[in-house]
Amino acid sequence: MAVYVRAIIIPIIVSVLVGGCSFGSWFAPKPYKETQFLMDTIIEITAYGPKAEPAVKAAFAEFKRLHILTNNFDPDSQVSKVNQLAGQEKVKVDPDVFAMIKRSNELSDQLDGVFDVTIGPLVELWGIGRKGELVPTQAEIDRLLPLVNYHLMELDPAAETVYLPKKGMLIDLGGIAKGYATDKAIEILKAQGVTSALVNAGGDVRVIGKRPDGNPWRIGVQHPRKEAGVIAKMAMTDWDTLETSGDYQRYIVVGGVQYSHIIDPRTGRQPRGLASVTMVINSSTDGDIFSTALFVLGPERSLEALKQFPGVEAIMVTPDGKVTTSPGLAGKIEITEE
Ligand code: AMP
Ligand code: MG
Repeated sequence: MAVYVRAIIIPIIVSVLVGGCSFGSWFAPKPYKETQFLMDTIIEITAYGPKAEPAVKAAFAEFKRLHILTNNFDPDSQVSKVNQLAGQEKVKVDPDVFAMIKRSNELSDQLDGVFDVTIGPLVELWGIGRKGELVPTQAEIDRLLPLVNYHLMELDPAAETVYLPKKGMLIDLGGIAKGYATDKAIEILKAQGVTSALVNAGGDVRVIGKRPDGNPWRIGVQHPRKEAGVIAKMAMTDWDTLETSGDYQRYIVVGGVQYSHIIDPRTGRQPRGLASVTMVINSSTDGDIFSTALFVLGPERSLEALKQFPGVEAIMVTPDGKVTTSPGLAGKIEITEE
């Protein structure tokens, strides 16, 4: 039987929508903009004002530091060290690596445990966007499921150590590192006096202030089924962050079936209830966790779960294109296409 295999990684296009002309824009300062490929995606930082250039460079240095610490592909990274010593030794990690794991587990405890930083064995097995070409058997999945459970991890907050007690356990911070790094980049830009900026991490966006012409940033949300389509638009006034997880971002197609990079730790398989989830929120770290978690939970359970988190909103698109938004977005978002 011929198996059709395709590994596709699509950088998510975020459209920063250009508003109408205003007198302010005549005097608006020029942007300083830099792009780098980090954390497996294109990171673009745009900042305005006299302090923009050194601030953007410092923000990128931090992004890079976090990339090096969390890179699963580098055997010398801290995450790799924790994984290599599973079942043997605890590992002292950088405070930021510890903070990422801690926040993931905290939020996941309120989201049915579906955001699981110990998802690594299943990520490796499926290999989506890496070596991925074959759909694993149920027996292979069943063998690994007992290794995927963040409650098994032994964390010592005082010593900042992480221990994976079973050989074969693997942590994977791919669902949070980019969001966490975006927040750190934003902190650095702010600390260096930048009052207008936009960090675009492969389509996940966090802004500072307003556009230099005084208008709010307006961001388009990628349509999960139309490559250059925008499914919603919003002005970044009440929230500063949009974070998306989608089945179109990284996937393989085998025998006509699409398998994405997000895995339900309860089943070891791809969740099928949603094509994308965009979080509307004021933290990139939390947005990154939530978007992956809600993608796993599906639309109904996600709406229920979000009731515990006032101010945290979501735009969810089903595989057949139905858009559901959480109640807090009523009147604050423009749905452009369904
Ligand atoms: P995102 O694009 O932010 O949704 O993150 C997806 C990435 O997170 C995947 O490429 C995996 O590295 C990792 N991942 C996949 N499924 C999960 C999960 N259920 N919990 C935590 N991380 C996951
Ligand atoms: Mg995520």
